[in-house]
Amino acid sequence: MITVRCTYANDDTVTTRFNGTFEEAKAYFLNQTFNIGSVEDNMQECVKVQEICGYCGTDFDPEGRAEMCPEAPVSVLYHAAR
Ligand SMILES: [Zn+2]
Repeated sequence: MITVRCTYANDDTVTTRFNGTFEEAKAYFLNQTFNIGSVEDNMQECVKVQEICGYCGTDFDPEGRAEMCPEAPVSVLYHAAR
């Protein structure tokens, strides 16, 4: 399970858990249209997908360098370690 942040064409972002790899998440969300409205329908195209830390919401370092996560339990510690 990973955490991804999707950015939509209207600049809204939605953070969601995804059961799969980041490549699968991109294939599922990117350039697809979803209803992101909470009260009324709001159909928006997903224009960007980022994998983020499930604990603190920080973007993963694109270089893949490990950074200590301020909010993860000790057993996880690093949010960008992959
Ligand atoms: Zn983190």
